[in-house]
Amino acid sequence: MREVASSAELRAATDAARQRGAGVGFVPTMGALHAGHRSLLAAARAGNDLVVASVFVNPLQFGPAEDLAAYPRDRAADLAVLDAEGTDLVFLPPDDEMWPSPPDVRLAVGSLAERLEGLVRPGHLDGVATVVAKLLHLVGPSRAYFGQKDAQQLAVVRRMVADLAFPNQIVACPTVREPDGLAVSSRNAYLSPEERRRATALYRALSAGRAVFEAGGRDPAAVEAAARDLLEDAPGVEPDYVALVDPVTFEPVKQAEPRQVLATAARVGRTRLIDNVIL
Ligand code: AMP
Repeated sequence: MREVASSAELRAATDAARQRGAGVGFVPTMGALHAGHRSLLAAARAGNDLVVASVFVNPLQFGPAEDLAAYPRDRAADLAVLDAEGTDLVFLPPDDEMWPSPPDVRLAVGSLAERLEGLVRPGHLDGVATVVAKLLHLVGPSRAYFGQKDAQQLAVVRRMVADLAFPNQIVACPTVREPDGLAVSSRNAYLSPEERRRATALYRALSAGRAVFEAGGRDPAAVEAAARDLLEDAPGVEPDYVALVDPVTFEPVKQAEPRQVLATAARVGRTRLIDNVIL
C-alpha cells in the first residue's frame, strides 16, 4: 500500500493507472475505520484494479458547535485496516493540502439540504458535496463507494454527479450493523456502556416502522409513528426526527412503498446518531 499526502502525487498515481486501462475504485472516509468502511473497501477491491482510499476529516462539513476537534483520529489503526483490505493507494492530505485557504467557490445543495440532516446541520451537506467533488476530481475513479448508512449524503452525491455530469459511477453499499442491530459508526466510540445499550433503540424503532409496512400498512404516518413511539419510550434517547422519505428527493411520501427510506436521528447522551432502513 502506498501512502501519499499531496494532490500532485495522488493525481500522478491515478493518471498512470488510468493510462494502463486500470479500473479505479475510490472509498472516501474520515478515518476511525470500522467494519462499515471495510465493507466499502471490500466492494471496491472486488470491482476494480486499483483501490484508492482517502482519510480526511473535512472541516467544511462540521458546524461550529460540532465535534470536529474531538472526532476520533488514529492514523496507525486506519493504515492497518486499509492495508488488510487490500487498498493500493491511500490519500492522507493535511488540512492545508486539501484547503490551502477556505474555498471561496463551494457547492450549494438545494432542496435536498432543506430536509432532515440538512435542517439540523446547516451547511453540512454543502460541505460534503464540496469535498466529495474535489476528491472525485483528484482521484478520477471509475467507481466511488458510499454507505447507505448516510442515506441523505448518498442522495446528495448521486444528485451532484447527475446534475454536474461527473463521469464517476456511484456505488451504494448496505449498512453494516453490530450483532444487536446498532449501525456501526465512528461516533459509537463516544457512547458510555449504558448509552451503547440505549442506542439499540434506533434500529429497533426503524425495524418497528418497517414491520408496519411489511404487515401491509401503507400510511406513512403509521410507519413513522411505530418508530417514533418506540424511540420516545426509550430511556435516555432524544429523537431529532423520524421520517419516511423518497430515496432520491428525501421529500415526505404520500403512501408507503418499497425502496423508500425510513430515517431517524437521535441523541443518546451527548452523541447524535443517525440510521435508516429501506422499505
Ligand atoms: P465516514 O468516515 O463516516 O465519513 O464514512 C465514510 C463512508 O463509510 C461513508 O460512505 C459512509 O456512509 C460509510 N459508512 C459509515 N458507516 C457505515 C456502515 N455502518 N455501513 C456501511 N457504510 C458505512
